[in-house]
Amino acid sequence: LLSVRDLRVAFGGTEVLHGVDLDVRRGERVAIVGQSGSGKSTLIAAVLRLLPGAGHVTGGSIRLGDLDVTGADESAMRRVRGGRIGLVPQDPSTNLNPSMRVGAQIADTLRAGGMRGRATIRERVVALMTEAGIPEASRRADQFPHEFSGGMRQRILIAVALARQPELLIADEPTSALDVTVQRQILDHLQTLVDQHGTTLLFVTHDLGVAADRTDRVVVMLDGEVVEQGAPGDILRNPQHEYTKRLIAAAP
Ligand code: ATP
Ligand code: MG
Repeated sequence: LLSVRDLRVAFGGTEVLHGVDLDVRRGERVAIVGQSGSGKSTLIAAVLRLLPGAGHVTGGSIRLGDLDVTGADESAMRRVRGGRIGLVPQDPSTNLNPSMRVGAQIADTLRAGGMRGRATIRERVVALMTEAGIPEASRRADQFPHEFSGGMRQRILIAVALARQPELLIADEPTSALDVTVQRQILDHLQTLVDQHGTTLLFVTHDLGVAADRTDRVVVMLDGEVVEQGAPGDILRNPQHEYTKRLIAAAP
């Protein structure tokens, strides 16, 4: 489904991705693990062609199915971002409209995907919120983002991402701002949803333990390079790279 080859990305004159290869097959659940600054979010931004500021691709290729992302025009990319790929962003505060009821935000996404009929849309909004683990969804759909806790806001973003019925769901450290119990709950939820919908999952995290529990393959990044990848069991039992060994040693 996704194929990244020898990808190089620079911010201004500084290269931050030094030739990254990544493959995600349909139906697979892949985790990208790596410390802060290793280039995980940059990789994802490149895939969505949403690199901030002076960020640009300086080499390599990105293919999504049969689409050449590096060469596609902006309208094709807008369709990708609105449909084929659902993103649960790293920072929930910047990705919800503070002055719009959350149910209306999910409804907009459904309408953009072609759904029609007030009652049908309302029903789907409540179902999506419930699936994402928000209790009393029919009441809470009429609340504003600030009325939800951080963990609940993450769940709203998951509901928004799922409203697009994406082929590929990318979650960038969806839980980094939350305490560990809430993190695990949300991850378990994401897992169930992915299984139910047969969605392909690309999951970014700092935590190798979390990644290993919930994915088919772990990709370890360090300083803008993929240093190791494989089945979680193999990585945990038989890490090859020094950095991976350190990660395992540091895990609780
Ligand atoms: P974290 O776990 O903290 O989210 P990350 O693995 O997602 O880290 P990136 O955000 O991709 O790391 O950053 C990779 C490198 O690119 C870092 O050296 C960072 O300083 C640099 N970088 C990221 N965004 C920008 C930007 N907008 N302008 C300049 N440099 C940037
Ligand atoms: Mg990041």
